[in-house]
Amino acid sequence: MRRLPLVSVLAIALASCATAPTPAPTPAADAAARVPSQLPRHTRPLHYTIAIVPDAANLRFTGTTTIEVQVLEATDTITVNAAELDFREASIASYMEDGRISPIGSATREVRVDAENQTATVGFGHRIEPGRYRLRFDYSGKINTQAAGLFALDYHDESGPKRALFTQFEAPDARRMFPGWDEPAFRTPYDLSVTVPAGQQAIGNMPEAGREVQADGSAIVRFRTTPAMSSYLLFLAVGEFDRITATAAGTEVGVVTRRGAGEQGRWALQSQVQILPWYNQYFGTRYPLPKLDNVAGPGTSQFFGAMENWGAIFSFENILLVDPAITTEARRQQIFEVDAHEMAHQWFGDLVTMAWWDDLWLNEGFASWMATKATAALHPEWEPLLGRIDGREAAINLDSLATTHPVVQHVTTVEQISQAFDSITYEKGEAVITMLEDYVGEAAWRSGVRAYIARHRLGNTVTDDLWGAIETAAGRPITQIAHDFTLQPGVPLIRVESAQCAGGRTQIALRQGEFSRDRPDKQPLGWHVPVIAAAGGAPARTLVEGGAARLAVAGCGPLVVNYGQTGYYRTLYAPPLLARLTENFARLRPLDQIGLLADNWELGLAGYQSPAAGLDLVEAVPADANSRLLTRTASILIQVYRMYEGDPAHEAMVRRWAAAKLGPALRQLGWSARPGEPANDAVLRATLIERLGDMSNPEVAAEAARRFAANDPSVVAGPLRETILGAVAYNADAATWERLRVMARDERNPLVKGQLYGLLGFVRDEALARRALDLALTDEPGATNASRLISAVANVHPDLAFDFALAHRERVMGLVDASSSSRFLPGLATRSSDPAMVEKLRDYATRYMTPQSRGAADRAIAAIEDRVRVRTQRLPAITRWLEARRS
Ligand SMILES: [Zn+2]
Repeated sequence: MRRLPLVSVLAIALASCATAPTPAPTPAADAAARVPSQLPRHTRPLHYTIAIVPDAANLRFTGTTTIEVQVLEATDTITVNAAELDFREASIASYMEDGRISPIGSATREVRVDAENQTATVGFGHRIEPGRYRLRFDYSGKINTQAAGLFALDYHDESGPKRALFTQFEAPDARRMFPGWDEPAFRTPYDLSVTVPAGQQAIGNMPEAGREVQADGSAIVRFRTTPAMSSYLLFLAVGEFDRITATAAGTEVGVVTRRGAGEQGRWALQSQVQILPWYNQYFGTRYPLPKLDNVAGPGTSQFFGAMENWGAIFSFENILLVDPAITTEARRQQIFEVDAHEMAHQWFGDLVTMAWWDDLWLNEGFASWMATKATAALHPEWEPLLGRIDGREAAINLDSLATTHPVVQHVTTVEQISQAFDSITYEKGEAVITMLEDYVGEAAWRSGVRAYIARHRLGNTVTDDLWGAIETAAGRPITQIAHDFTLQPGVPLIRVESAQCAGGRTQIALRQGEFSRDRPDKQPLGWHVPVIAAAGGAPARTLVEGGAARLAVAGCGPLVVNYGQTGYYRTLYAPPLLARLTENFARLRPLDQIGLLADNWELGLAGYQSPAAGLDLVEAVPADANSRLLTRTASILIQVYRMYEGDPAHEAMVRRWAAAKLGPALRQLGWSARPGEPANDAVLRATLIERLGDMSNPEVAAEAARRFAANDPSVVAGPLRETILGAVAYNADAATWERLRVMARDERNPLVKGQLYGLLGFVRDEALARRALDLALTDEPGATNASRLISAVANVHPDLAFDFALAHRERVMGLVDASSSSRFLPGLATRSSDPAMVEKLRDYATRYMTPQSRGAADRAIAAIEDRVRVRTQRLPAITRWLEARRS
């Protein structure tokens, strides 16, 4: 699964708790037997045949599921997972010697439903002996309006209102469409069929095997049998679709959209054509299914952007389709990267699957890492490796607070599974894999991955299976390093205590501590930390063990530790060393510039050094810097700007500084694309307009307003449309906001509509923000846009949004996916700087959250306390620096 893109999230910026101790990983052989589970192990499924008849208009469906099972120990009951299914009938039959089946007892069996544990138990009234049986369930269920189980997405096209159906089963929601063993270790083949109304299509994991047209024009569509796979990867979609296809290395790839939007999938299709052969080669195993679709769903989710169902990826439209009217360059790049992420899962996750959710990180961290790697290989001009630092920073941001958790976390409940999808799982996972790949070398790492895929194909694994394969390929141990970074939480701090030049070499002394924003005095944990350093000559490597290391590097130039930024740690330089780097900043490589800036800004905020060190580096960023360095500079400037909320004099001071730092680059780029310009220039242009607009930069706000009032072509359509409208919305007065609202209401294109409703919430004026919140509870925005609107308000007015959502809790929760329910409200509050919010969140958690699900609230509290602490303790020094700069 791919979470929402970093740029547009806040709700998913926090989650999870997992204070339970992490058990040592178990070997793969007995993994399935030892994973925690709600289901007894005396019976296992061998094959499913599932027939679904949707009644889309009434949001109900009927289903028949027949499961071939193996009973391993005599039992008088069988328990399966089931959620919100109404059972009409259940029966069991045994296999005769000749392969025929023979019913046991009466056709109808009692089914006991345990709603809380999401199970159903069939009783037989007597013991059945070990052997093969056929279990059959007839039932009906609910079609949801949020992405869980079988769900509906409504939209309009030229011919009127439409409803399409899709499934979303990860982590534990297959049980909402069929009863069964809804745990990843149970791999079986599936035969799926669905009754489709006349004029509609169905998409499944596999190509269609046959179609039986009924008297009323509907058709029963049967899909080919899947390979043995986990329940969470099964997929079904039904609706009025277009499907465009191409062939990549002999495999049919397709993009499926609502009818009429097929061509908008062209970019994604071309991306798949590029990516699939590259993965065939990297993994050393060909893509294993006959086809690979990517299916676009109208609307958005608070929880995720895309899902790696085997052979039938699902993506929300905004992360799959390119609409020339609105798609930004950044989004085009993101569509490629998300496609690459989901396609990596087709091997790593689908062909080889984690045995249990404890190892979700490996699935997600690997797919994130692989997506960056494939993007760097196929689109080096986008410089995705520089973007990796954004992921590292997102992870450290969570991992440096007491509320963090280890990458590998022990998961026992449904709620904990959904909370596990956080920046630690994804971005720290990617960062740790990046570090380990760099440690063993690219070729050895790839050999290890190939061996792992070949050995475990169609099987389940634990994390140590991968470490073992890499060690064998590399001929050197990595398990200790890997365990240090995955089984214990937190961020190492590497202090560069001294550096002496002698004989053309620099002798450096390193000491390992721990970077913590809320417990600076805590006793540091110990890590084995791979460190690379360079001082103008060839880089040198060492492994910091036992808390310290010495290293000699060639050259006597400015010393860069974490050279290449592949290490997951912060680097704290002795002041003279940092001063030298600051002086020579413009001459460093962009990767190291970005890493150095990020490290030193955060070290200053956390009190390890003066915040002036980071501000000096911001000042040292040249006007013609790499676009990603300017992007990071802009994000620091806006962070400083927001610290002065309610202090207009200092806000103005930061606004002027930002104009001086970023204005020249925007003037150089202009507001219109130049023919043949690099793709990242287009990204930077949008970023600069957005960031300066968010600081109410007078020139940017005026230019955006002018274009909006004049109905300039750039506002009507094109890659800057969203950016300009964002600047307009943020600085809007009532009349402007109303005009935007009418645009949103009248818009038919669901992609554009969603975007416009998001913008309506992103408004500086508090009275307008209140109107946006009220609007979210009307029928106007539509179910999936309403929560987006509330989240947008929370970006600017977190306290207002939280108070509103709390006052209308029942209705607001109805707008959010079940999987986001425990994190949505805390997510709204997380940007607050008000100490009073801490108490409000504690109170909320006590009233509405179970101890297992309060992780999201705890993390929001930690983030707010950190922000309050920074304002109290660091802002005075930042103010002194700003005032000295002015004079
Ligand atoms: Zn994923």
